[in-house]
Amino acid sequence: MLSEDFRNRRVAYFSMEIGFDSRVPTYSGGLGILAGDTLKACADLKIPIIGITLLAENGYFFQKIDEEGNQIEMPTNWSKDDFLKSLPVKISVNIEGREVKVQVWEYIVKGLSGYSVPLYFLDTDIDENDEYHRTLTHYLYGEDKKYRLCQEIILGVGGVRIIEALGYNNIEKYHMNEGHASFLVTELLKKTKKENKYNIEAVKKQCIFTTHTPVPAGHDRFPLDLVKNVFPSSVLFELPEMFCRDNEVNMTLIGMNFSHYINGVAKRHGEVSKNMFPGHTINFITNGVHSFSWTADSFKKLYDKYIPGWEQNPFSLRNALGIPKEEIWETHQEAKKTLIDYVNRQENVGMDYDVFTIGFARRVTSYKRADLLFNDINRLLEINEKIGKIQIIFAGKAHPQDIKGKELIKSVFFSIKELEGKVKAVYLENYDMKLGKLITSGVDLWLNNPVRPREASGTSGMKAAHNGIPSFSVLDGWWVEGHIENITGWSIGSDKEELNEVEDLQDLYDKLEKVIVPMFYNQKDKWLDIMKHSISLNASFFNTYRMVQQYVTNAYFK
Ligand SMILES: *Cc1c(COP(=O)(O)O)cnc(C)c1O
Repeated sequence: MLSEDFRNRRVAYFSMEIGFDSRVPTYSGGLGILAGDTLKACADLKIPIIGITLLAENGYFFQKIDEEGNQIEMPTNWSKDDFLKSLPVKISVNIEGREVKVQVWEYIVKGLSGYSVPLYFLDTDIDENDEYHRTLTHYLYGEDKKYRLCQEIILGVGGVRIIEALGYNNIEKYHMNEGHASFLVTELLKKTKKENKYNIEAVKKQCIFTTHTPVPAGHDRFPLDLVKNVFPSSVLFELPEMFCRDNEVNMTLIGMNFSHYINGVAKRHGEVSKNMFPGHTINFITNGVHSFSWTADSFKKLYDKYIPGWEQNPFSLRNALGIPKEEIWETHQEAKKTLIDYVNRQENVGMDYDVFTIGFARRVTSYKRADLLFNDINRLLEINEKIGKIQIIFAGKAHPQDIKGKELIKSVFFSIKELEGKVKAVYLENYDMKLGKLITSGVDLWLNNPVRPREASGTSGMKAAHNGIPSFSVLDGWWVEGHIENITGWSIGSDKEELNEVEDLQDLYDKLEKVIVPMFYNQKDKWLDIMKHSISLNASFFNTYRMVQQYVTNAYFK
């Protein structure tokens, strides 16, 4: 049934979310988009890989914001059969003593030279299953522990079974993109059983684990009693020390204990993870973005003219240094106009093409401090009046259960109201990949101010760099590596690990007032140098081609 090309696939990439197209809303944010960008780069680079994920048929959610700044969540409506192809293969997974049937949908990611990487979406919404089990592939990250556990059993155990049922029998490596898929090791372990013994080393040889966050909530753990009920016959109970800690099944621990290669997603994140998980060798491979997907049309045309072939060789974006400055500016203005037109159509705020525009868009959760810029509104107004006019564009969803995140949206929403008549600012609804691309290519400055060291990598600043937009960011995640002061952008606060909010705030306003806004309005030449360096130093490096090549040489085919 499988073509010979597919039969020779050697790597299976497991991820709870994969974001490859904004019309297929089976992702919530950075993790999923990274997974999509990874598989797009693999398709371009002809890496023999396949992707496995859950269907998330109702998507993450569609976001509205009401008059009071409250986030309203609606199911995302999309027709899976417009994008995915149903395959005539089914397997079953035992959950709570019932055989839950799993079917599969396929999507083909086509590389720039025609190579295909298939993605498989697992789906339990089948007549044969009972009501509850049918819902298991409806929502991404249901907050209920049992629901989540069931989803992770389907992804890990069901995923391995499905790819075997499809006819993949040359898979050598299993890459767990975060701990959600760690139960796949139970399937691999079972195959090594001889005379009642398991061969842990044989499993380790096959597995790669990537951890994506230093925030504890990002590491799934399940009470042992719950797991005993839901997943009773699992081999994990025969090797509890490998799976459990403190009476909990710990998905990160599993991933780490059964992998020969473990990595964080930026240099700093690798170091932080080493301290969180002593006793494991933790490497790092810094994230990237898929260059062709995140470059605005206007910049694509410019690169085509000056750096032909850049899309299949993003390293050559280093040559952006040679592009005439006027053309960089015209190209940026074109991308900016697209965004400003969108903002004015959506929000009727009358933003201006020539006013300095700050962008901030990401998942809204407390450590990202979406409201930091508004901490001292008067200072912001002063800069706006005395130094140069400012416009601000915000966007981002809070997880439905993240009360603090929702409060942050409200707080930003009211700060924007406070600025009315003085600074034009908006909160755009429903941040998704499409809007993400519009914002990361259309503003003048990309702002990022998380609490150090909680930003594992961050990728939106890399998207901005592909469009010549400098970052103004806390020294965390990828920016520790991408930042050169006054050359690729600017830092906020110091490089010390402890949080110092006062220092961060001071630096944020001081640099806006004394360095950034004046340079934008009065030293265009210097500003354009920074735009060019953002492309040539950062886009040429922080892309998924470099990243995938590191996974290939360091982890997959070492
Ligand atoms: C790029 C992107 C993200 C991730 O951005 P970070 O900088 O890693 O927080 C999240 N959501 C959307 C829609 C994106 O496009």
